Order: sequence, then C-alpha cells, then structure tokens
Amino acid sequence: MSVKTAIIIGAGPAGLTAADELLTKTDAKPLIFEMTNDIGGISKTVNYKGNRIDIGGHRFFSKSDKVTRKWLEVLPLEQGPDIDAAQADNIMLVRNRLSRILFKRRFFDYPLTLSAETLRKLGVLRTIKIGLSYIKAQIAPVCPEVTLEDFFINRFGRELYATFFRDYTEKVWGVACSDISKEWGAQRVKGLSVAKVILNAINRIVRKDSMEQKNVETSLIEQFFYPKYGPGYYWEQVAESITERGGVIMLEHQVTGLSLDKDNVWTVEVLEKATGKISSFQADAVFSSMPVRDLIKAMAEMAPPMVHEVADKLVYRDFLTVGVLVPINKCVNLPDNWIYIQENDVKVGRIQIFNNWSPYMVSNPEHLWLGLEYFCNEGDAFWERSDDQLAQLAADELVKIGFIVSSDAVDDSTVVRMSKAYPAYFGGYENFSVIRDFTDKINSLYLIGRNGMHRYNNMDHSMLTAAAAVEIWAAGVPNKDVIWSVNSEETYHEEK
Ligand SMILES: Cc1cc2nc3c(=O)[nH]c(=O)nc-3n(C[C@H](O)[C@H](O)[C@H](O)COP(=O)(O)OP(=O)(O)OC[C@H]3O[C@@H](n4cnc5c(N)ncnc54)[C@H](O)[C@@H]3O)c2cc1C
Repeated sequence: MSVKTAIIIGAGPAGLTAADELLTKTDAKPLIFEMTNDIGGISKTVNYKGNRIDIGGHRFFSKSDKVTRKWLEVLPLEQGPDIDAAQADNIMLVRNRLSRILFKRRFFDYPLTLSAETLRKLGVLRTIKIGLSYIKAQIAPVCPEVTLEDFFINRFGRELYATFFRDYTEKVWGVACSDISKEWGAQRVKGLSVAKVILNAINRIVRKDSMEQKNVETSLIEQFFYPKYGPGYYWEQVAESITERGGVIMLEHQVTGLSLDKDNVWTVEVLEKATGKISSFQADAVFSSMPVRDLIKAMAEMAPPMVHEVADKLVYRDFLTVGVLVPINKCVNLPDNWIYIQENDVKVGRIQIFNNWSPYMVSNPEHLWLGLEYFCNEGDAFWERSDDQLAQLAADELVKIGFIVSSDAVDDSTVVRMSKAYPAYFGGYENFSVIRDFTDKINSLYLIGRNGMHRYNNMDHSMLTAAAAVEIWAAGVPNKDVIWSVNSEETYHEEK
C-alpha cells in the first residue's frame, strides 16, 4: 500500500500539531505549507536584536491534561529533575500572572476585585451607581439577550460595563458592543460574573495556588507556563522534531487553490513567494488552519455560491505591536505581565511588559521591553502608518499616560504587524453553519485551529482540534462533530 500524503495549511499550533500527530499515529507523510517565513502563526515570537516580542502574550494554560503533558514533554519544567546545563534553554517557566487595568490614570486589579481599594479608587458616587445598576440587572435583566452589550449588562450591570468593558472592547473591535452578537461574550467571558469574582476571592483565601486549575474560570487563572524564550521557541522545537521525523515544512509557500477529483485526490496549488511560481501538489487529505474566508476563495467553483457569499462576509480584526525599549530607571515600576489601557485619550489598547513574562525576553536586563498593542484593520490608515510614525506615537502615548517622562527615554523600537489576529463574531459569522455544512461533507478536508475554524481558539484548542481531526481521518470516521466540540463546552474559555 502506498504511503498517504496529508497536506497541512499553516505552521501555527494547529498545523504543527496535525503534523506531529500524523507522524506519531499514522504512516502518512505530512507536508506543511506556511505562507510566511515564520513558525508559530499568531503564537510566534519575533526576535529583534535579542529582544523578543510575543504577539499578544501567550499564556500556556490548558484544562486538557493531554495538552499540558505535551507542552512539558517538549519543554520540561525549569526545575525538573532531568534538566542539565545543555538543556537550560529548553525549559518551561512557571509564571505568576499580574495584569491590571489603567483607568483614569489609576491602576485597578484585573480581573476586577471587589476590594476596598477598588471602591476607593472608583469613588463613592461611581461605586453607588455600579452597585445599583448591578442590582437592577439582576432584578430586570435585558431580555432577550441579543448583543454583546446585553450580555455584559446582564452580568455586570450597566455602570460597571460602561466603566470597564465598553471602551476597551470597542477599541479592540472597532465596532460598538451593541453591534456584536452575544456569542462573542459567551466565548470570551462565559461563566465570569460578579458572583464568580466574589467566590474566587473567597477561594483564594482557602486554597493553595497550584497548576491544578480545571475548576477555575480562565479569566481568573493566576499561574501559567511560559517558555524561556517565548511561545515561538516552543513551536520551533515542535517544527524541528517534525522535520527530523520526515515531515516537510515549506515556508513562504502560500496555498492559493484547492480541488478534489473523482478519485478523492486533492490538488493543492501553492504560490512560492520568493519566485512567484505556482506549483501543484497532490494529497489524500487536507488539514487547513488558513482563514476560512481564504480557504473558500481558494476552493473556487468547488464551493457553491451561497458558501462563497457567507465566507466573503467573514470579518477579522488585525493588530500591531510596537516594541519599545526603555532603560528601567527611566520608566515607572511595572510589575505586570500586561496592562489594559482603558483610557480614551490614547489609542494603545494594551501594554505587554515582556520582561515579566520571562526575564530572558530582553537582551539587557537594565532595559524594560514593552509591547504597545494597537488594534486596527489591515490596510487602514493606522495599519499603513510608517514604522517611524508608529514608534513616535507609542513613545508619545507612554509619556501621556505617565509611564515615562519624555519620549527621549526610548532607546529603540520596532513594529510587528499581525493580520487576522481575531476572527470576528459578527459580519458573515451568523450564517457560519452554511460553511460548516459544506466543508463537513467533504470527507478528506479538515478545518482546524483558530482562523481555520473561525473560532476564538487558544493554542490548546487549536492543538486539540488538530489531534481530533487526525484521529478521525485515521479511523475513517466521517462525522466531524468531535472537532467542532472543542472549546464549545461551558467550562472551556479564553480570558477576556
Ligand atoms: C492577542 C492574542 C493573545 C492570545 N493569547 C493567548 C494565550 O494567552 N494563550 C493561548 O493559548 N492562546 C492565545 N492566543 C491564541 C493563539 O494565538 C492562537 O490560538 C493560535 O496561534 C492559533 O493557532 P492556529 O495554528 O490555529 O492559527 P495561527 O496561529 O493563525 O496559524 C495559522 C498559520 O497559517 C498560515 N497561513 C494562513 N493562510 C495560509 C495560506 N493560504 N497558505 C499557507 N499558510 C497560510 C499563517 O501564516 C499562520 O502561520 C492569543 C491570540 C491573540 C491574537
């Protein structure tokens, strides 16, 4: 019997996991096409002069033991018994999480805690308003709950929503919360409520911190794993192991066309970025983590017009990070992993302090290595600003919010753009079932991952969808529900 070939689109967590699983559990040969020059997708790490940028800050946290085991198999814990000097770089750190919200130039705990300190900073009037509007939301919730605004108000009350949720969410999405469906909230903050915040505060007093966090809402997780050199380093190790075992990863190769013949053989057209040449490759199965919108476009007449219509309307939100290097003695003390900037006089949405994710993310420990995150749409005026303009804006905004005294304090900076960071739960999303019904019926095509399934999947979800897809392909099971069931249960969500 000839060896089967599986083409995998994308070398992010989903694509790499699919290849890893194929090599471990089947005889098939995985061939990965990755359109960029990087390994890791959104979970890559960019190395700028020895200072590393993690796109968005990736906590390695999972409620799946299988995923956690895999992570620690690739990068053992920093103080594990098997660590020797040669392995010193290949380690997973255990980090404490600290993130705060900057609001009206004051820091608030994130997630919000109902402490005397919080109430003092909010002031008496606002606190009373928050309390009353929360009670009102409990007695007379918005019904029916349709939009994200309704979702937030019903769980937190109108005043708390307006104070801490509305502006930031609208900064991230560039769309009013009243124009976003409540499913977004269900995916992102499902299960979190004022009552849960109170319960967690009590729990924290009675329980010892541990990595055993299955029963803790993801928004409240206080410890996580983190590779010494950022998430991309982890995925580079996985990629290395794939190629060592005979898998092939072709970087700067973009999938542009797919078709399936009557003998169920796929022909995949690939654009080689360096030469502009298009080549065709054949495969028995396709595992796709490329954005659904692009996949359907690449399937051309294979997909009916109705499917194209829905796919064309899928929306994404893009994102850029300005890495800013500042001498520690010229910046305020920032112990956080990241800070939500809930200030409406600056454009920056969130600031990462990479030193606090891992001290090895910065080349000179005398420097603070910050990542200022801006949400935008690929091709809009903000996205198109030059790197110099963005660097200047970042420095000016750091001055404005009082983190540095003058923009002269900045020693160096760089810009990383990441398109399609977030698949949106508006636009064509409400008719997504049309796409799913179509792709689910094609036996040897598997949609996996985050943009690959147009779902708010974290790395662990992306890994689990890939593993499930390989398993059912190998077993010849036609039903794909098991893939779609990942990250759909009540207890399985990402942070706000
Ligand atoms: C701001 C932010 C913070 C996050 N924080 C966390 C966190 O703390 N913890 C966590 O677990 N997850 C986090 N995530 C989610 C995590 O980044 C994703 O779950 C993960 O990267 C998804 O993996 P993937 O392989 O499905 O997709 P991707 O990472 O998007 O990889 C897909 C790959 O496919 C490639 N590709 C696309 N089109 C084509 C094509 N036509 N041909 C060839 N290649 C193609 C892309 O270049 C990319 O490399 C965060 C995400 C964001 C945006």
